[in-house]
Amino acid sequence: MNKGSFLSRRKFIGGLGAATGAAALGGAGAVEALAAPTGGKAPHPQTPAEALRILQAGNTRYRRGKLSLRDYSPVGERRASEQKPFAAIITCADSRISPELVFDVERGNIFVSRIAGNSIDTGTLGSTEYGVAVLGVKVVMVLGHSDCGAIKSAIAAVTEGKTYPSSKYGAIGEVLDPLLPTVKSLPADERTLARCVPANAIAQAQDLARRGPIIAPAVQSGSIQVVAGVYNIANGAVSIVR
Ligand SMILES: [Zn+2]
Repeated sequence: MNKGSFLSRRKFIGGLGAATGAAALGGAGAVEALAAPTGGKAPHPQTPAEALRILQAGNTRYRRGKLSLRDYSPVGERRASEQKPFAAIITCADSRISPELVFDVERGNIFVSRIAGNSIDTGTLGSTEYGVAVLGVKVVMVLGHSDCGAIKSAIAAVTEGKTYPSSKYGAIGEVLDPLLPTVKSLPADERTLARCVPANAIAQAQDLARRGPIIAPAVQSGSIQVVAGVYNIANGAVSIVR
């Protein structure tokens, strides 16, 4: 990132924020319409709702095995020196998740930060703040997934008292720490993987949406939308859970 472009882009986005109110999400029909190949036209979503529909339509193509994977990048051949993603994704480090494939978008379209358990830490927060303030993404998705090992470990920590001392586990325990409050917040009989995965994605998205000075004002002005999703590894579907 270079400082000059940061300042100029940020000023531009600051002026744009108030004008782009969050539109209501379109129905399934809108998603289906967008699921059809776009003939190679680059998406230029103007609203958070439109950006989310593009992601959902891409996921529909992915689930149906009809990937387009054409160059959707608005910057085309200029991509080597510039990026213009329309969405930021915070997802798990799990090797079975490939965000560009899951949403059937090309390089340059989504700004992805990853950490096991898709939590909000300095790395994912700062990266996403850059995506919002500088790159102008319209939607931010915290994306958990089925069969998440980090969530399994967090459940074991809460329900079985399993510990991850740094002398043996390095920083693994610190990565799990942000996941524990959500597991603890659930009744004992609901601390299952199926329950904890969406609960964590929602909690992390809520945490992110409250963070100032960049994310919270952008959410409040309607210039971005923060959503939580869960990726089902078995069938490829992304469900928006918040
Ligand atoms: Zn995971």
